[in-house]
Amino acid sequence: MDRIDTNIIRSHIAFLADDKLKGRYPGTEGFQTAVDYVIDEFENIGLTPSGDDNGFKQKLVIRKSLLNNTSSVAILKDKSGNTDSLVFARDFIPVPHPLMESANADGQLVFAGYGVDIAGGYSDYKDIDVKGKIVVLINGAPPGLISTLTAHFSNAGNKTTTAFTKGAHGVIIINPLSRGGTNLNPAIQSNTALNPGKTIAYGRGFVGNLKTVLNGTAPLLRKIFLNSGKNMEQVLADLKNGKASSFELPYSIAVSYQTTHTDFVSHNILGLIPGSDPVLKNEYVVHSAHLDHLGIGRVVNGDSIYNGAHDNASGVASLLEIARVYRSSGAKPKRSVLIVMVTGEEMGLIGSSYFAANPTVPKSSIVADVNTDMPTVIAPLLSVVPLGAEHSSIMNNVNFAAGYLGLEVEKDPEPNENRFVRSDQYSFVMNGIPALHIKYGTRSDVPGFNLTDFVKEWRAKYYHQAADGMDGIFNFAAAKKYVQLNFLISYSIAQTLKRPDWNEGDLFGKIK
Ligand SMILES: [Zn+2]
Repeated sequence: MDRIDTNIIRSHIAFLADDKLKGRYPGTEGFQTAVDYVIDEFENIGLTPSGDDNGFKQKLVIRKSLLNNTSSVAILKDKSGNTDSLVFARDFIPVPHPLMESANADGQLVFAGYGVDIAGGYSDYKDIDVKGKIVVLINGAPPGLISTLTAHFSNAGNKTTTAFTKGAHGVIIINPLSRGGTNLNPAIQSNTALNPGKTIAYGRGFVGNLKTVLNGTAPLLRKIFLNSGKNMEQVLADLKNGKASSFELPYSIAVSYQTTHTDFVSHNILGLIPGSDPVLKNEYVVHSAHLDHLGIGRVVNGDSIYNGAHDNASGVASLLEIARVYRSSGAKPKRSVLIVMVTGEEMGLIGSSYFAANPTVPKSSIVADVNTDMPTVIAPLLSVVPLGAEHSSIMNNVNFAAGYLGLEVEKDPEPNENRFVRSDQYSFVMNGIPALHIKYGTRSDVPGFNLTDFVKEWRAKYYHQAADGMDGIFNFAAAKKYVQLNFLISYSIAQTLKRPDWNEGDLFGKIK
């Protein structure tokens, strides 16, 4: 681990975050330059190609779906046949349909709370039949869950999948706190990865099998509770307290809208460090990091290039250095280690969803994913939050690695941020693979210095801003420690004879 070289880490970040890569947006020349750079480095390091056709690349077609605003129609109908045309943006906005240019749905409205259905536990679907109907849901999740599960069950994609498996034709997701009108973004876009014969990977928020998904506003919720015999405030309060409340509403809805599709090719980049054990080498520990960023955006202080030095050039640099150390070290891992640089994370975890659903090695042979997304190496690293590790035996590997490096392991200090579903580790979890993402902890040894506040201020100024360039704040000693930790976690997983498994009865362990 002493070989980990901060100068090399710095030079990777400097290259990837340079203005000439123009923010590494998938489908652009800048992203292609980043792809070429990673492949060159993989070759220099001596990784084995693990993409399509014995190359380093896995091809995916990304579809951008854009709503045709003026085409959006939604008509509410009551039991006596009276109709009410809903107003686009004030009441609702359709989510662009990734598979159909012309989406149509017509059905009875059913209110189903959070739209959550936990096997053997809380369910919003217990006493209702939603087959062929349009389900009305509110955002969020029932109380009393740990932060990773709150994040999982609050996820719109998870809610739409659940509704679809219950037989619904459509979903309306409502934020009861939204005011309607100005705060709904009419230029809404969804992204999907398609390749003939492969499992489709949807960006967050839409399952193509549904006929329609709408976002709705609080005024719409109030409207459809009228004449329902239910008190909306009471129902929302009950849900907040963990009491499910689901029932048919006295309305049906007819929805139609048009979506424009634009398809382009992008790639995940995969390189392998072959395992040394004759049997275990057929199992894989994945290191993932997203290579893409936001591209060119709104001009701030004369700068329109969103360089993504921390997000996620620093994560890609970490993986390149981990790969180099694996290859240059005498100690060979028993299991194989697969380095996966994914595309389209910022577009909704597209590249990782696609890879995890359609891996280039047998899915059942992937034992774990160690994801690295914006380590935030801006201050000394003394403690870490291993998001997701508490669900499986990889917590043992984290405890070993953190203990070896003298790092304290903390619980998620910001459970309301739903961080767990916001990066690529979630794609692996959704495919039944134990995964984690090491986030910075809160500990500091400088008297009077509050790391949490410092990170908050940093985030406001740099996170997803044009300012996130090489000239920002970096602590390379912390970067080295972060790389050591992630290396040691994957090495420990690769060396442990028993493959990682989910904790007894863990909900993520039931996803296959
Ligand atoms: Zn980001």
